[in-house]
Amino acid sequence: MKNVVSFIEMQTRQVMEFHDITEKVREAVKKSNVKEGLVNVFTQHTTCCVKINEFEEKLMQDFYQFLEKRVPQFEKYGHDINPVDGRKNAHSHLKSLILNTSECIPLQKGELLLGTWQRVFFVELDGPREKRKVIVQVLGE
Ligand code: ZN
Repeated sequence: MKNVVSFIEMQTRQVMEFHDITEKVREAVKKSNVKEGLVNVFTQHTTCCVKINEFEEKLMQDFYQFLEKRVPQFEKYGHDINPVDGRKNAHSHLKSLILNTSECIPLQKGELLLGTWQRVFFVELDGPREKRKVIVQVLGE
């Protein structure tokens, strides 16, 4: 079995951002030369997520509102009292609890088996940041 790991890097510009990385994941899969198996898309950040959903402009706004309503940015949180990295980002950590750090996608005949409306998103919850990283691990034959 092959195990091919690659990275997608990006810069983020807003506090919260949904980045459609589907085509970059497809490129990573193509380069891996694995045809049958699984693709795991994973982020090492504690204030970012990877999530599969639909890309539609108004829905993007709904995503932001949904998260902000549940975990408002300007509330009082324990993590913000004396932040180790100087960032008052408790809301970002809490939002990431609702989402995931990874998504696993089946791979068949070299193609991601995503549904018609499914896209892979990297979700920034504590931007803007100079460099964010996503790991694409392709496992199989
Ligand atoms: Zn923090």
